[in-house]
Amino acid sequence: MQGTASVERRETVGNSWNAAVMSGFTRDTKRYGDKLVYEALGSKWRRYHDTHCRCGLNWVTEHAEPAGFTVVRSGTGWVALTGPGLTDGVDESALTADVLWEAVTGKPSAGWVEAVRVVDRGEAIAGDRAATGVAGVQRRARRPEAEPGPVTDKQLKYLTTLVGKVGRERFNTAFDAVVQGTEIAPRGDGERTGQALRRLTRAAARKLITVLAGP
Ligand SMILES: [Zn+2]
Repeated sequence: MQGTASVERRETVGNSWNAAVMSGFTRDTKRYGDKLVYEALGSKWRRYHDTHCRCGLNWVTEHAEPAGFTVVRSGTGWVALTGPGLTDGVDESALTADVLWEAVTGKPSAGWVEAVRVVDRGEAIAGDRAATGVAGVQRRARRPEAEPGPVTDKQLKYLTTLVGKVGRERFNTAFDAVVQGTEIAPRGDGERTGQALRRLTRAAARKLITVLAGP
């Protein structure tokens, strides 16, 4: 049961961007600026709602919005949401739409964990598809920085946790990949993890989080 629903949520329909929207966490600077959003595929969420709640009302206006979620954008068949526990105040290495699920279906959540997709619309990519990992981040790195300023305390804390999870070796590789082409120096010999992290800009920290939290 849990596995089936999880697969449904990840289902992709078609190839063009609009049709390719599937339910999932997304970072897409063109559409959402620096916001993390949850893009919900209407057909899926309508079905979850119809199956479990059966009130016959609109799941977005009658359940999601009253529960504190905000519609930041919507299109044909999809709606992008933000909100507490969904995109705000969350651990980006363990994202989950469970809070939305509970608001919309009225049923307990099953504990699904999802990754964030970073959508890159660079012309180097054939078609529009999600670009994740170091390659995607390096493409993004050539764009003007949307987030000036130094690494934030929240990012430091989260990165420290991530480094603990992925290990020093992967951290060192990711760090050097992320700072390449920036004014931030690569990892120094004998430099402690915390020292390296504090040298990051907010934008570089965001990229490093994306890389380390990715697959
Ligand atoms: Zn309902």
